Amino acid sequence: MNPVKAQCKRCGNFVPSDQFRLHFEYRQMVCPGCFKGKAVAKDEKPKKVEPPRPPGWDADDDYLEKMSRLKKQEQNVQFKKIPGTDQVQCTCMKCKYQFKYDPFRKRPRVCPYCSEEIPQMKTFSML
Ligand SMILES: [Zn+2]
Ligand SMILES: [Zn+2]
Repeated sequence: MNPVKAQCKRCGNFVPSDQFRLHFEYRQMVCPGCFKGKAVAKDEKPKKVEPPRPPGWDADDDYLEKMSRLKKQEQNVQFKKIPGTDQVQCTCMKCKYQFKYDPFRKRPRVCPYCSEEIPQMKTFSML
């Protein structure tokens, strides 16, 4: 006999499914090990420790760092808001073609000239 095994959501071990029991605290089916509280739950990692900030670090630096990270993600395309419109000026970094981009309809999806994909723009939050 080869019983069907299922993965325990707490510890990730594969255990015959008929050995699972509903744990009142976890409110889910767990393997016998977890039921007895012996297995270490995967999601109980120690809390992430924030790296120490350099002296003089403030929220502005945090913001700038975030923006530069976003810019790095969007190297293929450059966006510039067109004043008075909902659209942005988009410059394809591959072919330097400039075109209007509608951030709300997300159109066009690719560069009209070279068909380079336009990344989903997270920096539209700057609009
Ligand atoms: Zn388990
Ligand atoms: Zn292009």
